[in-house]
Amino acid sequence: MRETDDYFKSTYEESRNVFREHLDKIKKKWPRAGLSNEPIGKEKDNTIDMIYSEARASNDQVVFLSSGLHGIEGYAGAAMLHLFVDEYLDQIDPETTGICLIHVLNPWGMRNARRVTENNIDLNRNFFYDTVPEDMNEKFAKESDLFLPNGKIKDVKKEKKDLYAQLTKGMVKEGYSGVKRAKSMGQFEFEKGVYYGGKAEEPSTTFLKKVQKYLLSTYKKIIHMDWHTALGPMNELTIVNSTFDSRSEEELKSFYNLKNIQKSSPKDVKGDATNYFNQLKEEEFPDRYLFSALFEFGTFGTSKKAELRELTTIVLENQLYWEGAEKEEDREWVLEETHNMFYPPKQEWRESVIKEGRSGIENVLGREGILKREAKV
Ligand SMILES: [Zn+2]
Repeated sequence: MRETDDYFKSTYEESRNVFREHLDKIKKKWPRAGLSNEPIGKEKDNTIDMIYSEARASNDQVVFLSSGLHGIEGYAGAAMLHLFVDEYLDQIDPETTGICLIHVLNPWGMRNARRVTENNIDLNRNFFYDTVPEDMNEKFAKESDLFLPNGKIKDVKKEKKDLYAQLTKGMVKEGYSGVKRAKSMGQFEFEKGVYYGGKAEEPSTTFLKKVQKYLLSTYKKIIHMDWHTALGPMNELTIVNSTFDSRSEEELKSFYNLKNIQKSSPKDVKGDATNYFNQLKEEEFPDRYLFSALFEFGTFGTSKKAELRELTTIVLENQLYWEGAEKEEDREWVLEETHNMFYPPKQEWRESVIKEGRSGIENVLGREGILKREAKV
């Protein structure tokens, strides 16, 4: 078995090189597999890399793993692609199963340690079936001073304290504050604000939509795992599944034999990529079987305190990006906290990602008939 550290790279390029090297191994089972590198965005050398092959004999099903929809979260996602290639290819029947692996849908974000794209857009709020919605976040507008950058970070300790106080007050008074609402709903008004879903479709969104449609038109059954970080209990895997899936959370937990499964509804989350995928299936490919969900590795946890820490990190990271910090140590603190939230350096967390990731892959792909368990020696 490979050392845990080998899976976790420190730069975008390093991670991408490792991914590109997977092609040789995949070609041994799927000789027609190819690697594509789609340039994305204005800056040079940011690419969405994809390894894809149809099944060798009959396109019954496809296993689809994607990563880095939220840039910086792509480090853990790439680790999952690597783990999958290392340990599970031998349990898949290439005669009937296609393979599609995507290394980082938001390469600029991964390179620059941000969740969002170079246009400050949260890609998981950018997938619309019809049109991008008008702003529906009055509360966000009311509290926009909190979520929009307002000058350089002068004293991070003080700003952190103020944010905690403001957010706590908002949570107590209204049950949830505008920023919490924006967190799930997205906001479509303030280009420099947090949780911005954009006014137009991002190139990464166009790319993924094309892949989703292609897979639905080619395979009878599509199993999609989209890897993320931050949500859910610390050091555990949480699956977020669309409400298009009619099974209850309890049914899902027992079917997949996994502890943490939540459902996200397009009523509460706007522009989510897996909801889009499910809607596309319902409307245009109703005879297909699709399982598409987010797989999240928890970092801060789920307590009230963790929630405050999370919102504060998101707000300060956004402020640092647009306005900078007067003191170098404040800049470093915000960047460190951003990593703690989306790509913690802690060994314990990284080991949990591998362990929990294995269990997620085995339970979901096993139950869905992608892995032939008996083939495991
Ligand atoms: Zn994410």
